[in-house]
Amino acid sequence: MSADHIAPAVTTNFIRNIVEADLAAGKYTARRFSGRPGPAGVQASASPDQAKIRTRFPPEPNGYLHYGHAKSICLNFGLARDYGGACHLRFDDTNPTREEQEYVDSIIDAVHWLGFDWGENLYYASDYFDWLYEFAEALIAAGLAYVDSLSADEIREHRGNLTEKGRNSPHRERGVAENMDLFRRMKAGEFADGAHVLRLKIDMGSPNFNLRDPIAYRVRHATHHRTGDKWCIYPMYDYTHGISDALENITHSVCTLEFEDHRPLYDWLNEKLGAMNLLNLPLPHQYEFSRLNLTYVVLSKRRLIQLVDEGHTDGWDDPRMPTLVGARRRGFTPAGFRLFAERIGVSKSDSWIDMSLLEDCMREDLNEKAERRIAVLDPIKLVIDNYPVGQEETCFAPNHPLKPELGKREMPFSKELWIEREDYMEVPAKGYRRLYPGNMVRLRYGFVVKCSGADYDGEGNLLAVHCEYLPDSKSGTPGSDSYKVKGNLHWVSLLHAYPAEVRLFDRLFSSPHPGAGSDGERAYLADLNHDSKKVVIAYLEPALKAAQPEESFQFERHGYFVADRVDSQPARPVFNRTVTLRDSWGST
Ligand code: ATP
Ligand code: MG
Repeated sequence: MSADHIAPAVTTNFIRNIVEADLAAGKYTARRFSGRPGPAGVQASASPDQAKIRTRFPPEPNGYLHYGHAKSICLNFGLARDYGGACHLRFDDTNPTREEQEYVDSIIDAVHWLGFDWGENLYYASDYFDWLYEFAEALIAAGLAYVDSLSADEIREHRGNLTEKGRNSPHRERGVAENMDLFRRMKAGEFADGAHVLRLKIDMGSPNFNLRDPIAYRVRHATHHRTGDKWCIYPMYDYTHGISDALENITHSVCTLEFEDHRPLYDWLNEKLGAMNLLNLPLPHQYEFSRLNLTYVVLSKRRLIQLVDEGHTDGWDDPRMPTLVGARRRGFTPAGFRLFAERIGVSKSDSWIDMSLLEDCMREDLNEKAERRIAVLDPIKLVIDNYPVGQEETCFAPNHPLKPELGKREMPFSKELWIEREDYMEVPAKGYRRLYPGNMVRLRYGFVVKCSGADYDGEGNLLAVHCEYLPDSKSGTPGSDSYKVKGNLHWVSLLHAYPAEVRLFDRLFSSPHPGAGSDGERAYLADLNHDSKKVVIAYLEPALKAAQPEESFQFERHGYFVADRVDSQPARPVFNRTVTLRDSWGST
């Protein structure tokens, strides 16, 4: 775990209960090895302690990870961490046409960034192509698989539907020798894509579609990102997944609920191969939990790709994207995600989680960690008429109100300051406590000032606010707290301020359930929030010039901001707003 790990009180859930029961029953102490070599890392780490649990996170490298994946990562790696087991990172890379190295690299980065490590247990399903092929031959030899030569349309048509059972393919009763010959010739490249498939011989009459002789292999003349042109037949996801789990001695194969109907196939396949002594025992078991549904975003790779490809956002790492690379650029933190995963828990019931819960977790983590700084986002000049021209002095501001040990920093003070435009009102609204003619406020960490009026241009636009300061009111000097004023404003010295680009991000969609209530694949796009990104030139206190990329701060009164990791230059950071100080999307 990385050093910044917040250890939230671990709440139990049904999967933890299962793991605890399995460990208490000694389920993994009597592992029986088939005597066959497994993947090297598993062999190496399996022997000294065979009793431990093994989980895995199995992404398909065909897109960037999103917030939903963070739930699955925290769950799987969290189980391994809490029960002294191992969690494997396995790329389910069986589809040669959709997968790319760029995605593999970004997934590796994202899991590490979240604070998890798989040690030696990094695997690729494509590393198992030889085993998967050999097992397919074993299934053919046992009469449990056959080569079908129907077209894709015919196979679909034979599969039946919810009310109608499927029908057997005319090729279902091919003999073992013919099946073996055809399958080897599929592998040898004798057939075009789609000419034949290998199917598991289960039950065309099963009420479960997944058991109606599912396809195990198809011909696909395509170059794979890792195995190159070695193969022209590729195994299907369902065929690959359970076998990969078993080869890696996975104990608890935890996935989302849409795979529940696939579990009978998962078990059928592993039980058959286990009975042939091709797999180690006990076999892995699959458990399903409900996926994360989060308001104000979309969490489906297909839609995320669309948002990027059609230019609705500025790429995968746009801070508004619900991807983990986007979250990182936005200033969301790994500890915030881990806290969120604990808070939302794990169950089998489908529900929506409100985005404000995720934002609150980020606030909670950042409130603890982020140093405070001053930034004026919408500047107007404040002139202190009785302050000597050319004079400067230093004020001191604490870096963190909860952590005095972090010390104070210097803030230069001078005759002209930047303050927020909204901190002045010519005619104050009821209850307004900031600057208006005749009112006194404290310039935070500085002096008490009394407002004397403002300058306007010919069109009535505010140009500057004027005030007089009380020289004996400087914060931290004796007697300074005898001034009781209600307003407390932030400011930066005009001479010393650092003008910087600051991006104010808001939620990407303006509706909690994008696209809900309208038909069509693209309906969710109509709910895009067109004010989700605003760029301003703000005036920042000089200390912020030294901010390092990815360093987070609380800009007092404004929220949490991070120095952008892509666009910041040395000594010229630009900032992204991570989240405001309070939820501004609530019902009030
Ligand atoms: P998507 O549905 O967004 O296209 P996916 O399920 O196809 O994602 P995979 O790469 O197959 O993406 O997912 C890897 C793992 O992450 C799987 O075990 C999957 O169950 C899990 N996962 C995906 N989306 C979510 C989610 N929203 N909440 C929790 N786990 C998820
Ligand atoms: Mg998937």
